[in-house]
Amino acid sequence: VRIARFSRDGNVAFAAVEDEGGEPVLAVIEGHPFAPFRFTGERLTGSAVRLLAPVLPSKVVAVGKNYAAHAAEMGGGPPPESPVIFLKPSTSVIGPGDPIGYPPSAQRVDYEGELAVVVGRLCRRVSAADAAEYILGYTCANDVTARDQQAADGQWTRAKGYDSFCPLGPWLQTEFDPSDAELRTQVDGETRQHGHTRDLIHPVPDLVAFISAVMTLLPGDVILTGTPEGVGPLSVGDEVSVSVEGIGALTNRVVAGG
Ligand code: MG
Repeated sequence: VRIARFSRDGNVAFAAVEDEGGEPVLAVIEGHPFAPFRFTGERLTGSAVRLLAPVLPSKVVAVGKNYAAHAAEMGGGPPPESPVIFLKPSTSVIGPGDPIGYPPSAQRVDYEGELAVVVGRLCRRVSAADAAEYILGYTCANDVTARDQQAADGQWTRAKGYDSFCPLGPWLQTEFDPSDAELRTQVDGETRQHGHTRDLIHPVPDLVAFISAVMTLLPGDVILTGTPEGVGPLSVGDEVSVSVEGIGALTNRVVAGG
């Protein structure tokens, strides 16, 4: 099931996304998707509905250098044996179609297309074998990074923490094999990254175990699983799209300011 979060007339709700002749139809659900839910019977299409980031996480936990080819393009030797994790603030999250603000203080801002995991239940010290029970679904993410500031600061909070630097969406997919999906990043329609999640050094169950041994993950928290090779710069005016096979495409435009 694909579950979207959307606003209509200023009200926020969740819906299952269905296809009817190629046109997505939102079947509105009662309450939220973190528990068994019912449909209200209302079905929506069209421009009255605006899709939002599929969840509002308390935190976004991201993983660095989790594809060998990307670790190589970043230099600094072989990828680390344990996952290297960092946090992006909840305020960096935006939804599909929202603008990515190019900070005036940055000289180079990169896209990083990634598979994102959405946590469904309170998750603490969970084993890799049990991880799937704690995952609600998966979505597309762009771990936008001010590359020059990442290098200058020696740690990543500023470079990856700007408002709008974590596009998520367009919805979450609850039926998905995180070890078997193609991932593509396009800028103005041109493919810049083309990876496959089978190449994750630390696969999703291992990430859930590793991270939940450090910090409690709450329903709606998001794990960014790392980006494949091909990272590169964005310019003001670019349209960047991250798509994951079986989920959908997350598209945002870069605007001045941030
Ligand atoms: Mg990343």
